[in-house]
Amino acid sequence: MTDKILSLIEQEDKVAIDSDGRRWAKCILCGKIDLVDKFTTYGEKGYINEGTCRECVKVLDESKNHGYRKLPRTTRPLTNSIEDQKLLARFLKSEEDWEE
Ligand SMILES: [Zn+2]
Repeated sequence: MTDKILSLIEQEDKVAIDSDGRRWAKCILCGKIDLVDKFTTYGEKGYINEGTCRECVKVLDESKNHGYRKLPRTTRPLTNSIEDQKLLARFLKSEEDWEE
């Protein structure tokens, strides 16, 4: 990973593509920066260089399957959209702080 990619990921005007033509993204849940083939969702409107990585999605899915009681109560079901994942990330983070 180069500084150039980092600076490309920090902005939302252009897609972050390195000199080899590979696309990069940042996971909004764990903060990992990796090639987009490690991501389940990425590149939604307004979040072109952000997404959720496969590892985080796997953890979230397992939580849901086990009737995860800590999931936030929302007025509608959470989807896999980046906006909803951000909401969830914020909630999980606050829950962690609360537990400690
Ligand atoms: Zn992640």
